[in-house]
Parts: sequence; C-alpha cells; structure tokens
Amino acid sequence: MAPGALIINQTETGRNIRAPSLRRNVHRTAMATGSKKKAARARVIRALPMLKKTIAEFRARSRTIALVPTMGALHAGHLALVRLAQRRADRVIVSIFVNPAQFAPHEDLGTYPRTFAADIAALRALKTDGIWAPSVATMYPDGFATRIVPEGPAKARLEDAFRPDFFAGVATVVAKLLIQCEPDVAIFGEKDYQQLKVVTQLARDLNLRTRIIGAPIVREPDGLALSSRNRYLSSPERAAAPALYRVLKESAENLKAGHAVGSVLDEGRAAIERAGFALDYLEARHAETLAPLTAKADPIRLLVAARIGKTRLIDNVSV
Ligand code: AMP
Repeated sequence: MAPGALIINQTETGRNIRAPSLRRNVHRTAMATGSKKKAARARVIRALPMLKKTIAEFRARSRTIALVPTMGALHAGHLALVRLAQRRADRVIVSIFVNPAQFAPHEDLGTYPRTFAADIAALRALKTDGIWAPSVATMYPDGFATRIVPEGPAKARLEDAFRPDFFAGVATVVAKLLIQCEPDVAIFGEKDYQQLKVVTQLARDLNLRTRIIGAPIVREPDGLALSSRNRYLSSPERAAAPALYRVLKESAENLKAGHAVGSVLDEGRAAIERAGFALDYLEARHAETLAPLTAKADPIRLLVAARIGKTRLIDNVSV
C-alpha cells in the first residue's frame, strides 16, 4: 500500500479501525510531551557517532525514546508502529536496515524490496524524529564475530523449523539496535508473532533497559496482513491470499466453540491447501510461551506460514 493510502487497522476481533489522521496524531504527540514540537526534518543518520549525538540531545532534554526497527519498504503496518511509538515516547527513531544475517542463502536478500526515498518521505510526513539507516559495514564491520543464538520461543518449531538461522540473525541485529539506540520502548508488530516473543525474551534475559511493546496486525480490507513481500504476489495469488486469514478466523471461532484442537487444525490445513497454498505450518500454541498446548485454560495463538507461488506468507490470530 502506498504511503497516504487509506489505513485500516483490523484488530483480532475483526473490528476495522481507521488510523488517526496525521494532523491529529502530531497534535496529540505535542500535547503529550507538553511541548510545541518543531516540525524539524527527521535526520537520516548513517554513522554511530551521529546516532549517539542525537540520542544524547534527546536525553539532555529528558525525552523518552522509542525505537521502531524495520527493514524498510514501509507500508501502513510499519507506519502504525510509528504512530504507536509516538504515543508511547517523546522521540521516535525508526531504523531501516535490511539485515543480511537473517536471510538464508536461498532467500530473497538480493531482491528484498528497497524503497528508501519513499520510506524517508513517509517517515518525515509522520514527523519521525530520527531515521537510523546504517550500512552493512557499519553494523557488521570486518572482524565482527559475535552471534546471539536465542532459545525458548526461538526454538518453538514454528518459523525456526523452516528458517533455522533466522532468529539468530534477528536476535543479533535487534540486540545491536537496542544497545545502539538505548530506547525506553521498542515497538514490534504482532505480524511476526514468534519474533515478538523472541525479542521480548532477549530484552529480559540481557537486562536491557528497553520495554518491548507489541502492536496489532494491520490488514488490507480483505483481511490479508500487510507485508513488504505482498508486492511479489501475482494477481491470481493476491486474489487467493486472504484465504490465510479467513482460515485463521474460522479456526479460532471453532476453537472458541469448543471443537477439538486436532480436528480444527486438520480442517484448517486442508482448507489452506485447497486455496492453492503449500502449507509450512498451521499450529495452535500457548500464546505466551509458544509451547504446545497442555491445558484447556491455556491462552491460544493460531499461527500459520504458507507459500503461494514463490512468496511465503505468515499470519496469526488470538483465540
Ligand atoms: P519488517 O520491515 O518486515 O522487518 O517489519 C518491521 C516491523 O513491522 C516488525 O516488527 C513487523 O512485525 C512489523 N510489521 C510488518 N508488517 C506488519 C503489519 N501488517 N502489521 C503490523 N506490524 C507489521
């Protein structure tokens, strides 16, 4: 979706929320901070000394800082994260970094969409305070030799079963971003639900100062979760893609109605395959730990990953 297009934020309950207008949002941010925020152009920061200087300036004025990590190719889902960040802190830094460490050799690092100029324009329109856009050499200079290998939710046999090195790449880059930016809060989308749990665990385990906040999934009007990779879909694939969310919602309803987990998942898996997907997984897990369900009272999250054509899509809902 192009920046400026209608933003629909569909919650898990199926309610569609139109995102607040930019004007109102900026006003609210200024009110919340008790300051008349200058409409300064967000700095695009490329080097660590400038990042540190910017953070020191924010801190000198006792401003709280939020970080929104992204890989660019920004869409309305990312921009909703920025708006949430603006409500949770006085200053918002958005990072744009396509992290090579989280792509396997056969994945789409080389062709991952890069729309830097449009991203900067969208972030400036939202009055983002800083844009941290390091190069690969800045993040991983020659001689770089440390990797964080997360366990717990990172070993839940969901994404990790199909992308074995993915969460080590994510954990390493997120730890670096959190240490570099020293934010009070960092916003991650529930779209990448397992990643949200991995990052929450990481911040806790490493005693980082940052509170991790999850943000609801932003969807197209037909239910497809926004993703930078949706642009890879051909038009028949795009037409089939909302089946994922439809099946998630139906499965959640059936679970709430008391149907057995095993049969609900079997039906859901078959429906996803009938819609033209090659299924990686459809699972019902404990919503906090991502472990297999053990008790009737467990809070449940349904998570799916499936491929259509060359594109792999992921989605999830609460039950
Ligand atoms: P990415 O640039 O794909 O790495 O995503 C950056 C952040 O945006 C991650 O925290 C994602 O979970 C989040 N995100 C991506 N798509 C959506 C969406 N449709 N709704 C909410 N958050 C999203």
